[in-house]
Formats: sequence, structure tokens, C-alpha cells
Amino acid sequence: MERDEAREKLARLREEFEASAQVIRQRLAEPQRDSGDVAMVDQHPADTATDTADRELDITRLEMLEARRSQIDDAVGRLKQGTYGTCTVCGQKIPEERLALLPDTPFCVKDAQREQARLQ
Ligand SMILES: [Zn+2]
Repeated sequence: MERDEAREKLARLREEFEASAQVIRQRLAEPQRDSGDVAMVDQHPADTATDTADRELDITRLEMLEARRSQIDDAVGRLKQGTYGTCTVCGQKIPEERLALLPDTPFCVKDAQREQARLQ
């Protein structure tokens, strides 16, 4: 993959992740229950539980998006350094097909699998 093409792909990917993160941040910034609910004397514990679970899911999603965004920033840094496209663990070339699918990956297939096994 051409470096310019990779740079463009990464920038586009970063925008997408940032936009999704922004939507979640806005949702999390809103009060947990809307004003209509507050006026109600009868509280529904089930609804509150659902709200809490939704927020926790949002926080998890946001963390994932931010982790991915910093992985994209790292890839952009490697582009600048001229080390883009090589595995950060073993230094071998990452296959073009893999970069086409995951332009921000820092690992070759083998090390990605090892990394995944380590995290589980
Ligand atoms: Zn590797």
C-alpha cells in the first residue's frame, strides 16, 4: 500500500472513531434519567438498572474507541518514522492484505494472535 494511501485511510478511520466516541460522550454527559422520569413518584428499579447497564456498555465502547484511536495515532507515527508496515514485535513486514483490512495494526498475523492470547 502506498504511504499516502495509508495516511489517508488512517485519517479517515480516525475521524470515524472520533465521531463515534463523540456521540457516546454526549450520551454519557446527559443526566441518567430524563426530566419526565424525575417527576414521577413511582421509580422503576428495572429501568434504572437498564440505564446503568447501558451506561456501562457505553463506557466500555468509549474505552475501546479511544484505545483504537491511540493505535491509529501510533500507526501515523510509524508512517512518519518510516517504520509503517513492519511488525512492532518481530520487525517483519506485515502483509499488504492485512494492512488493507487493518491499516492501524502494529502486528503481523503471528504476533497479533499471540497478543490476543495474552490479553485473554
Ligand atoms: Zn511480528
